[in-house]
Amino acid sequence: MTSTRHDGDSWDPASGVGATATLAAVARAVASRENLVDDPFAAPLVRAVGVDLLTRLASGETAPGDLVGRGAIDGAKVRTKFYDDFFLDAANAANPGVTQAVILASGLDSRAYRLPWPAGTVVFEVDQPRVAEFKTRTLAELGAVPTAERRVAAVDLRDEWADALRDAGFDPGRPTAWSAEGLLGYLPPEAQDRLLDTITGLSAPGSRVATESRPNPRPGEDARTKESLDRISARWRQHGFELDHASLRYFGERNEAAPYLAGLGWTVTGQSVRDLFAAYGLPPLADDGLRMGGVRYITGIR
Ligand code: SAM
Repeated sequence: MTSTRHDGDSWDPASGVGATATLAAVARAVASRENLVDDPFAAPLVRAVGVDLLTRLASGETAPGDLVGRGAIDGAKVRTKFYDDFFLDAANAANPGVTQAVILASGLDSRAYRLPWPAGTVVFEVDQPRVAEFKTRTLAELGAVPTAERRVAAVDLRDEWADALRDAGFDPGRPTAWSAEGLLGYLPPEAQDRLLDTITGLSAPGSRVATESRPNPRPGEDARTKESLDRISARWRQHGFELDHASLRYFGERNEAAPYLAGLGWTVTGQSVRDLFAAYGLPPLADDGLRMGGVRYITGIR
């Protein structure tokens, strides 16, 4: 398997790394028909991407079957709720109040349209231009109205993105809540470090950050993860949807996000996927170690 990634590669929500945003929205749409999370924009956004199979899965016309299995559905619930709670806790905190949120790799995330943000909150969304423009246009056409002041920085997060965020009106003097959800594995290791450095440099005291922290792979683990991703790709291919999942990620060693942020002065706490499943009342996944690769959902405060 060879990686299809290269510096400066770009995508829309139907292709390459962009399609992972659409698949995440498919899982949220399916999860939203159950309990714990409710993202009413997930299915309409997926429909607008225009891939028939994904539209049918998101709308419920086609059963999730083995394409969006129990692990993917409950995983989407846990992830969505973790970041929803993170932002609402930050936005409702006093002293200092966090009135600025930055959703990095916002994909088809609709938090700027569905969370009950306190008045005066500004929510910045950062993603590649074609993904960001697609969501802005589609939600406007659907008549969706943001529940905060929403601003967009359409930029590649491997590049210097701080200026684009400032140009969108970001104020580094105000405490900020940052999320990088489902992003880090799609960045080369050094770009991940630069991203966390940049977040830190732009964070006034009282700022918070949330992301996933993955321990470095044990011997043989990357190979097993690739095999598992290849099986997932093959399953989708059988249904006519072509996406080489393994080729989109960067494997190998990298700095682990939690200790790296701690080294930058953040006070970091984290929970394993297993803990979060239990905390949210979901049955444990039989193969959670394999599925989640020891990922911890972490938050930091400065
Ligand atoms: N956070 C969203 C969610 O959880 O639904 C999207 C997650 S999706 C798995 C990965 C997202 O990261 C995509 O929206 C993709 O466009 C974005 N992304 C990955 N690498 C990026 C980069 N170098 N610059 C900007 N966005 C990037």
